[in-house]
Parts: sequence; structure tokens; C-alpha cells
Amino acid sequence: MSAQEHPLGISFEFFPPNTEAGRDKLMQTRDALATRGPRFFSVTYGAGGSTQHRTTDTVRMVRESGFTTAPHLSCIGSEKAALRDLLNQYREEGIDSLVALRGDLPSGMGGIGELRYANELVEFIREETGDHFNIAVAAYPETHPQAPNADRDVENFARKMKAGANLAITQYFFNADAYFRFVERARALGVEAPIVPGIMPITNYTKLARFSDACGAEIPRWIRKQLEAYGDDSESIAAFGEDVISRLSQRLLDGGAPGLHFYTLNQAEPTLRVVDNICG
Ligand code: FAD
Repeated sequence: MSAQEHPLGISFEFFPPNTEAGRDKLMQTRDALATRGPRFFSVTYGAGGSTQHRTTDTVRMVRESGFTTAPHLSCIGSEKAALRDLLNQYREEGIDSLVALRGDLPSGMGGIGELRYANELVEFIREETGDHFNIAVAAYPETHPQAPNADRDVENFARKMKAGANLAITQYFFNADAYFRFVERARALGVEAPIVPGIMPITNYTKLARFSDACGAEIPRWIRKQLEAYGDDSESIAAFGEDVISRLSQRLLDGGAPGLHFYTLNQAEPTLRVVDNICG
């Protein structure tokens, strides 16, 4: 099953499925993507820990591939004691990589918890577990939607890296220059660790538009207009999406990006097509 690591340094993100059929599909997706030799897989986490067991179960399943698997862990809405227990559990299971996040509290759900921002979570993980974990954190080339401005956001990002993160993964974006500029600004603030672009394959316009509104990723007008024009023609959307995302990925790598992290949405094909185009 295990393959040589892909020369470009790629990683694949999954979300925990909530049905048997979803689990079966994810196992197939995992196996298909494992053939491309990822640096790691990662598995998202529900804010506040309400769906924690779904993340831990999915991490176990994905690890059967033999590849490093990093659980995401968010601090908003959680108490330190619960986070400590989870860190200890991961350590005992031999997990050595995490994606550390603040997360977003669903409306109507409890208090914010003891740690307010991701930099405090990174500090907490380092205090509790020393150098055991490789810690990745999130970065926002187009600025986090709640940040007062871009300068403040990149300063907050630099603080989070200096708290002990080893790697950053960005929110997805379609504008390569936003990424290059963000990296330059982070370097100017003393961030030395790799900042890996997050890549969202395009397969469905309605879902993409909804996600992008929520997370503050801009869909350029020329992409929106073309996707709208395709309507329900999913083959044309997939072909156009593959072309746009392959070119974006290539441009990022050519400009010095230290790898690519794919938001797979638990589907293998759209990601595989891009990976194979860029390594070809
Ligand atoms: P932070 O880095 O804490 O930043 C949040 C906001 O606070 C920003 O506006 C920042 O500028 C500001 N800020 C940061 N530090 C400070 C400070 N010390 N003082 C004042 N302001 C500050 N969500 C999930 O629920 N589960 C997941 O599994 C998940 N995985 C993700 C993976 C990636 C790669 C990315 C990019 C996002 C992911 N998210 C996930 C979404 C993420 O939780 C949200 O974007 C959330 O709103 C911010 O999390 P953060 O860790 O970036 O927060």
C-alpha cells in the first residue's frame, strides 16, 4: 500500500463521515490517494468537541493506510482538561502530528472555553507535551473574515507560528498573488516555517459559493461567471475546475510553494486529476 513520498510534498484533508456508506467511500478515497505518496493525511474536527469521537474514529481508519495522519483540534468551547485528555490519548496512540485551530463556535453553543485563540492552543500543546507533536496551524492569504485588517491578521498569524507551530496550511484561494504576498509579509515578521497553500478542487458551483462566503475565500468573477454558465453540466464544471486548479497549483509551486494541501471533501478523483497534471 505505501508508496514513495510524492516529490512535490502533498497532503490530503478529510472530514469525518457520519454514515456507513460515507465510511466505505472514505476508505476507497484514502486508498486511491495513498498511491500518490502523501506527506500526511489530516482529519477535521467539529468545534467545541461535540463530534470528537468522529474525528478520533476516522483518524484510526485513515492511519490504517500506514501514512502519517494528523487530527485537527480546535480549542474554542473546550476546557483545558478535555484538551489535555485528548492530547494524551493521541500521544498514547502514537499520533505525532496535529492541526491546531481556534475553530468557530456554532451559534447557541456554550461559552468560548479557556483558550481564546489558536496561538494559546499552540502554547498549551507545547506546555503539555513538549516537542512531541508536529503542529500545523491555519493561515489566511485573503485575511481571516473576523480580522480587523490584513496587517493585524498577519501579525496574529506570526504570533501563532512563534508560539511553536512547525507548519502552516492556508485557507483555499484562487488568487496566487494573495498567497505570495502573504508569505512575503509573514517572512518579514520572522516566520521561517513552511506555509503550504490549501487547494480546493472545483466540482460543484453551489457548494463552492456557499463555502467561500462562509470562510472569506474570493471566487474571481471570471471563474464565477464561467461556472454559472455551465449550470447543471457537471462534466464541463469538472473539466474547467481541473484546468483552473491545475494551473493555480503549478503557478504556486513554480513560485516557491513548499507543497500543496488538498481539501478533498472525501472525493479522490478531482484531487487525483490535479495531482497528476502537476507532476506530469
Ligand atoms: P486564530 O488563528 O485564533 O484566528 C482567529 C481570528 O482571531 C483571526 O481573525 C485572527 O486575526 C484573530 N486573532 C488570532 N490571534 C489573536 C490574538 N491573540 N488576539 C486577538 N486576535 C487574534 N474549523 C473547524 O471547526 N474544524 C477544523 O477541522 C478546521 N480545519 C481547518 C484547517 C485549515 C487548514 C484552515 C485554514 C481552517 C480550518 N478550520 C477548521 C476553520 C477555522 O477553525 C476557522 O477559520 C476559525 O475561524 C479560525 O481558526 P484559526 O485557528 O485560524 O484562529
